[in-house]
Amino acid sequence: MKTTKETRRIVAALEEQHPGADTELHYRNPFELLVATILSAQCTDKRVNVVTAGLFKKYRTAADYARADPAELELDIKTTGFYRNKTKNIQSCCQKLVERHGGVVPQTMEELTHLDGVGRKTANVVLGNAFGRNEGVVVDTHVARLSARLGLTSQNDPEKIEQDLMKLVPRELWTLFSHWLIWHGRRRCSARSPDCPHCEIRKLCPSAGKV
Ligand code: SF4
Repeated sequence: MKTTKETRRIVAALEEQHPGADTELHYRNPFELLVATILSAQCTDKRVNVVTAGLFKKYRTAADYARADPAELELDIKTTGFYRNKTKNIQSCCQKLVERHGGVVPQTMEELTHLDGVGRKTANVVLGNAFGRNEGVVVDTHVARLSARLGLTSQNDPEKIEQDLMKLVPRELWTLFSHWLIWHGRRRCSARSPDCPHCEIRKLCPSAGKV
């Protein structure tokens, strides 16, 4: 496992490499980001953005989704995959948002993770990006893979990986750090063919040339 000092060097190198890193999901407010993040499970951000371009014009509030015809909503989001489950999650999440929070997205981890279909990952995306609150680190497939390759964790479970990252990375950088790892994963360190020879942080990476 990397020490805090070694992690700081990785953090600095990633920051230098990906200065504009941000979520690639399109949204105009916290509620749209919540819906887009639920849709992004097992789907590319690009595909989600295609779907939400129309979806966010058709449904504007939590109440709109809660009272929608499920069959129609399923069709509207079908191309993001797993559309039956996603429809159920979005509708029950929106129902609770209406009942408990007046249709407004809450700003705490506890309240968010009590909504259907919202785990720590989704809550971290919303808290970090829509509200600027560093309550945790988003651990998606890229963050999990790169954290292991960079020697930042030996865990497989996303919540345990998150705990390791929270100990190593300064809190004010938690949201950005996951963006940097995701961008590096997409652009340089893919699952199947990491480009170690051209990787800008290879000198800091214990897996360079070994994966
Ligand atoms: S050196 Fe290779 S394994 Fe390490 S971060 Fe770069 S691309 Fe990934």
